[in-house]
Amino acid sequence: MGKLQNIFSWSVSRDRLFNECRRAYYYHYYGAWGGWERDAPESVRKAYLLKNMHSIDTWIGDVVHQTIKWVLENKAAGKDIAIDAARIRIKEHLVRTWNQSKEKQWVNGIKQNLNLFEHYYDRAPSQELLHDKIAKAVNSIDNFYKMKITDIFSGVGRDGFLSIDELDSFDLNGVKVYAVPDFAVKQDRYILFDWKTGKPSEKDRFQLSFYVLYAQAKWRAALDEVEVIPVYLSSPDCVLAPVPVVDLNQVRQYVAESVQAMHGILIDIAANSADMERCPKTQFVKKCNFCRFRELCV
Ligand code: SF4
Repeated sequence: MGKLQNIFSWSVSRDRLFNECRRAYYYHYYGAWGGWERDAPESVRKAYLLKNMHSIDTWIGDVVHQTIKWVLENKAAGKDIAIDAARIRIKEHLVRTWNQSKEKQWVNGIKQNLNLFEHYYDRAPSQELLHDKIAKAVNSIDNFYKMKITDIFSGVGRDGFLSIDELDSFDLNGVKVYAVPDFAVKQDRYILFDWKTGKPSEKDRFQLSFYVLYAQAKWRAALDEVEVIPVYLSSPDCVLAPVPVVDLNQVRQYVAESVQAMHGILIDIAANSADMERCPKTQFVKKCNFCRFRELCV
């Protein structure tokens, strides 16, 4: 197999990091590239290690997403998973991955084993905080069941399960754009669900509207055939309602401007080679306290 090429692409998370700190963006998308190779320079291997690090909050969110994915994959196969089994599953996952990080098992496989920022930078949380976070994860699963989300698509056959937390991409004005709908199902309309473990934010509406573009590209869905439903798992009283979609021309325009700004740090657009000097460190130094790349940068 030939060497992998670092092809330019766009995603909501890429845009978020680009706007948070250009230097972190550089490390994530360029400095870490090839860091999986044994003979890569030490700084590249280090950037790759740090890029794959999680904070406690992203870890909790990821474990919740993976547990729901498992429940839905079983549902798609015709098997209902009881809440108790889902609770056991998430607790086992949390313990297993916590130990991976605490025991530095990631030295044997960066992608396969969790590496928590809090362990790596010697900022392990108090027992109380850790218990709170674990309770939040289990509570999210409890709320998923309490909301009876599966009732919404109870009549859908196996073919109606379109996507369960799978990375996908589509072309937008010649740019490869990544999207990961948490769950997409088709009955009379296309319904896309987005599991949220954090609180509602003003930015959610834009991100969720972006999924309408994905549905249009992927399934040739008309605008009025698509519903995108945010599910705030921390609240059992979350109202399951489609988000009002932002004007899609605005979304397209935003992506085009973001792509143009990202191209601005490239030495060669066709080769997607970036210049670190065009990626200044953030002026909001408080962000550096919680940044994965601080070992390379500060
Ligand atoms: S340590 Fe600060 S300046 Fe450096 S990459 Fe992280 S957020 Fe940016």
